[in-house]
Amino acid sequence: MTRRPTLPRPACGAALIFLFMILGTAAPSLAAAEWSYSGTKGPDAWGRLHKDWATCDKGQQQSAIDIALTDPVRMHKLHLNYNVTGLDLVNMGHSIQQKYNAGSMLTIAGKSYMLLQFHIHTPSEHTVMGRQDPLEIHFVHKSEMGELAVIAVLVQAGKTNTAALEIWPHLPLEKGQKHRNENIKINARDLIPHDQSFYRYMGSLTTPPCSEGVHWYAMKNRLEMSAAQIKEIRGLIGQSNRPVQARNHRIILDSEE
Ligand SMILES: [Zn+2]
Repeated sequence: MTRRPTLPRPACGAALIFLFMILGTAAPSLAAAEWSYSGTKGPDAWGRLHKDWATCDKGQQQSAIDIALTDPVRMHKLHLNYNVTGLDLVNMGHSIQQKYNAGSMLTIAGKSYMLLQFHIHTPSEHTVMGRQDPLEIHFVHKSEMGELAVIAVLVQAGKTNTAALEIWPHLPLEKGQKHRNENIKINARDLIPHDQSFYRYMGSLTTPPCSEGVHWYAMKNRLEMSAAQIKEIRGLIGQSNRPVQARNHRIILDSEE
C-alpha cells in the first residue's frame, strides 16, 4: 500500500507559493529586456532572452548578411526627398541615433517610406564579399502600412567627412544622454553617397526583436570618414555589429545592369 505523503501546510504557504510564482515569472522577463553585443546577452543568446525575440534564432531572413553572388537587374531608382532636421541625438549605449522630423521621404517604385531616424554601428554589420568596413549607417524608414525600409551606408577610412565634422562635436557622451538643438541643421542626404546604386534584399532588424519583412537597400558606394572620426564614435559606442547571418537562398538584387 502506498501512502500519499502529506505536505506541511503553514498558513502562509499558499501566499509564499503565489509570491514565488510572481517573482519567478517577472524576474526573467525584466532581466531579458536587456541585450548586448558580447557575453551571456550577446547575439547568440538574443533569441532565448525574451519570448518576443525568438525570431533572432528561428528567423530564416535575418540581417545583416554578406553581400555576394548578386543578381544584376534593372531596378527603379531610389528617390530621396529629405528635409533638413534639427540636431536631435541620443546615445543609446550600443548606438548613436539622430531622430528625424516627419516629412522626409524615400520613394521607390511608387511606394513611399518616411525617414524616422538614422543610427551608427561600428564596425559594419553588412560585409561585401567578406570585406568588413569600420562603420555602417542605417537610415530607417517606415511606410504608412508599417513596412520598414532601411538604407545601409558603409563607411571606410579616408578623407575627413564634412557632415560628420558638424555632428561629431555634439555627440552625447553618456548612455541615455540626449542633445537637441533646433539651430543646428542635419541633412541625412549628406551621409548618403551621390551615386545611389544599391544592393537590395529582404531581411530583418539587426537588433532584438529581429523582426523580418525589412526591405534592405545597401549602397554600393562607400562614404569616407577620417580614421580619427571613426575612432571617436567607436570609442563612444564600442563594438556594435551583429555577426552576419545565414543567407538561406535569398536573392540579392544588384541595381547595376
Ligand atoms: Zn542598425
